[in-house]
Amino acid sequence: SKFQELGLNEVLLSAVTDMGFETPSEVQEKAIPVLLEEDTDLVALAQTGTGKTAAFGFPLIQRIEADSRTTQALILSPTRELCLQITNELKNYSKYVKGLNVVAIYGGASISEQAKQVKRGAQIVVATPGRMQDMINRSMVNINKIEYCVLDEADEMLNMGFYEDITSILSHTPDEKNTWLFSATMPKEVATIAKKFMHAPTEITV
Ligand code: AMP
Repeated sequence: SKFQELGLNEVLLSAVTDMGFETPSEVQEKAIPVLLEEDTDLVALAQTGTGKTAAFGFPLIQRIEADSRTTQALILSPTRELCLQITNELKNYSKYVKGLNVVAIYGGASISEQAKQVKRGAQIVVATPGRMQDMINRSMVNINKIEYCVLDEADEMLNMGFYEDITSILSHTPDEKNTWLFSATMPKEVATIAKKFMHAPTEITV
């Protein structure tokens, strides 16, 4: 299939078949081979509904070590709804990957319950910036070994006033990680984040 040509492994291809995806979307075609093969930062200009969750989700799931319980990836998203939506999608994509845990962290729900889930071993954490900062302050989550950081709907996060939280959260992560930024628009603040925290990013527009 077209997804196989992009480099997806058998377990992911099985999930793709189950979900009924037939052809990769444009952002998936452009991003997946690069993110699977290269250690690169990425800036992708893509609207919602373009299939961007799978564009970063498939490579992330394929590259993560599910045998290790260390938190290896952090995805930041603007709202609780999007956070839960991404978490659900990633759980569907990774249904045949044994031992892979995806945990959602967002405000308005029990922080101790979320901390408990993280503690059981979450290789992928999907979080809203405010709650993430709160959990870092309380030492409830450790992101100092992450290898991948996804900033989803970066323009929305900055519109909502999360600049300080985002920069503070990123300061707790290793310099050598791969950062993948997705945004519908590229206002000055997003460019500033890209310039400050990313190194020679691959650029994709759909
Ligand atoms: P997103 O832009 O990531 O929010 O995805 C929008 C919707 O499209 C989600 O419901 C996905 O499950 C679905 N989707 C993503 N990629 C594909 C694809 N290649 N074929 C069909 N549906 C897809």
